[in-house]
Amino acid sequence: MKFEDLGLSPETLRAVTEKGYETPTPIQEKAIPIIMMARDVVGLAQTGTGKTAGFTLPMIDALAGGRARMRMPRSLVLEPTRELAAQVAENFKTYGKYHKLSMALLVGGESMGDQTKLLDKGVDVLIATPGRLLDLFGRGAILLNDIKILVIDEADRMMDMGFIPDIEKIVSLIPPNRQTLLFSATMPPEIKRLSDKFLSNPKEISVAAPATTSSNIEQFLVHTHPKDKKRLLGRLMKQENPKNAFVFLNRKRDIGDVASFLKKEGYAAAPLHGDMVQSARTQTLQDFRDGKVKFLVCSDVAARGLDISAVSHVFNYDVPMSPDDYVHRIGRTGRAGNTGRAWMLATNLDEKYLANIERLIKKPIPVFDMGGAPAADEPVREERAPRPERSEKPARRDDGRPARDENRPRREEQKPRPQKENRQPRKDEDDSDGSAGFGDDVPAFFKF
Ligand code: AMP
Repeated sequence: MKFEDLGLSPETLRAVTEKGYETPTPIQEKAIPIIMMARDVVGLAQTGTGKTAGFTLPMIDALAGGRARMRMPRSLVLEPTRELAAQVAENFKTYGKYHKLSMALLVGGESMGDQTKLLDKGVDVLIATPGRLLDLFGRGAILLNDIKILVIDEADRMMDMGFIPDIEKIVSLIPPNRQTLLFSATMPPEIKRLSDKFLSNPKEISVAAPATTSSNIEQFLVHTHPKDKKRLLGRLMKQENPKNAFVFLNRKRDIGDVASFLKKEGYAAAPLHGDMVQSARTQTLQDFRDGKVKFLVCSDVAARGLDISAVSHVFNYDVPMSPDDYVHRIGRTGRAGNTGRAWMLATNLDEKYLANIERLIKKPIPVFDMGGAPAADEPVREERAPRPERSEKPARRDDGRPARDENRPRREEQKPRPQKENRQPRKDEDDSDGSAGFGDDVPAFFKF
């Protein structure tokens, strides 16, 4: 199938051609015609499948005819993290370059005053993280009555981050005569319930099992001892001589230590995790894209879904506790037709997690003998067994509030928060550097 067969406008097709895409990806083939028919969609797809273009392309055409009113956006895309929100904004900018649509990005860590001014002008596409959106709604800076298309992206990640009550609140504020698109890599019962509650006769679309790993990525496993990991990482860096890499860790508290180690060894490394202030996160990512930082030592949440092509290596310093995270992690390399190499350091404490990963990817990861590394069955005394929980929880969500404790029962409903006139600013507002956008790449508001 060709893009021309999907019913997109000539302007949108031109933008797609200029981007260099030749054929639609499976999710685009399936989703675009359905979205153009104004039907609700549940899309089982993860990042890397081309799902962002799958919803932005038809949205651009659907919105092309109308005009936004002051404070009343015409469409809303909800994203779990600021980085993903910025990436979606990039997509709208790229594919919508031949349309006169306006867009605003509402995320924590950016100046609220600037965002309010943008909303006042009227926006066609609003891309937001849930906390900041509710905040601005509570202040009367935004009305959701005119939203015709709602996208809930990365729904399972939203759930992991404790956003579901916020999502329910937001959706209940939007009139029901809208089109709703929900995307999720997995469909746990809570997301199914959300879909049943808020979508109307949705068309269900799924693409290749999220567990598939690209054949462009060579995978390797090295058995080691917990205390020997840093030294081994140093050896691997020398051996592999990577152009650049993501180095994934399970715990935020270890990230600074490993980043410092790499710096001491002479590598241009930097940490990236959810506890860093937004301006530092944005700057670090920009430095990585620009090649000033070559090794990003990071957590799953901070790096999830980041679309940076030409990353040569991924190092799993820790075996992720969730097998899905392994697929997401190594998918940071081998993108856009490039090849990549993914290494993982495993100790004998990781056996269970490793088995889960290999079950999911349906093949064993080849073991590489580094010689001299202690045997896999060497007894481990110092290190406590990891707790069976997801690999990383952000201590703070994007809106600055604490993340939900996975062990606590989920709240079914959240009471609307009282809106105070003189409320304390949240952490993300304190962190704001006053800038309105995401570096030079994505201004918070522009005509595109
Ligand atoms: P996503 O799943 O939306 O994060 O997209 C993953 C990557 O695929 C991004 O780098 C897109 O630029 C790229 N992409 C999206 N659609 C296509 C396409 N039809 N052909 C080639 N690459 C694409």
